[in-house]
Amino acid sequence: MLKGKCSVVTGASRGIGRAIAKRLAKAGSNIVLNYRSSEKEASELKSELEDMNVEVLVYKCDIQNINEVSEMLKAAKEKFGKIDIMVNNAGITKDTLLLRMKQEDFDSVIDVNLKGVFNCLKEITPIMVRQKGGKIINLSSVIGLIGNAGQVNYAASKAGVIGMTKSLAKEVGSRGITVNAVAPGFIQTDMTNDLNDKYKDEIKKNIPLRRLGEAEDVANLVAFLASEESSYITGQVINVDGGMVM
Ligand code: NAP
Repeated sequence: MLKGKCSVVTGASRGIGRAIAKRLAKAGSNIVLNYRSSEKEASELKSELEDMNVEVLVYKCDIQNINEVSEMLKAAKEKFGKIDIMVNNAGITKDTLLLRMKQEDFDSVIDVNLKGVFNCLKEITPIMVRQKGGKIINLSSVIGLIGNAGQVNYAASKAGVIGMTKSLAKEVGSRGITVNAVAPGFIQTDMTNDLNDKYKDEIKKNIPLRRLGEAEDVANLVAFLASEESSYITGQVINVDGGMVM
């Protein structure tokens, strides 16, 4: 389905990004596997993906730095000749109630989750405009839609991603580029590992499907949005949350 394509996945060393890279590789896409610090995990994933008969470029880069993002995309173009799919997945949390939230807790989450995605959009868009096509998929969160106590910074960043997604979709639709956002609910990754069991049980009561999501649940939607089967879908926010928000 994606044979011969080139997909860049940010934050692919762990969690949802890792599952997305594997799912896109399973569909035949070559992968640019971005990470910031988890070198061992990134190199293990590279071997796994190569066993699936795709080519892989592992690239360490902090998406907060637009020059590093630019260099990464340049390296991707040099290796694969084009970039068909850009998945802006990398993200962080620094949860605490607003009364206790420090300026730096707010700034760091905005810098990675919002400015980092902006940096990637800023650098990938001219490439896709020149190519006359491409698929951009941004990871938002249901928290960006409904808010959550202890996540003022995170909710602001993820709501911002939705605004950027819709605005860019309007700007580049005529150039053959689709831009969509995926809004996961609670997915089992390192990001949610720290939540205690009591809190997880409370969350499950509000999820009609009565379970937390798996990274693969999100990856399956991303693969669809990356494929030609989604060619008439743009500017949308699609939840993968077991029905938690409807
Ligand atoms: P995770 O397990 O904590 O993994 C985060 C990934 O992002 C890691 O690969 C990390 O790389 C990378 N990363 C962090 N900061 C980076 C930076 N500045 N530059 C480049 N890479 C960076 O998180 P996850 O749960 O898979 O979440 C993935 C995305 O889904 C995030 O955008 C998150 O907000 C969103 N999401 C998650 C959930 C959930 O329940 N898990 C729900 C809704 C939305 P290194 O390890 O190499 O540093």
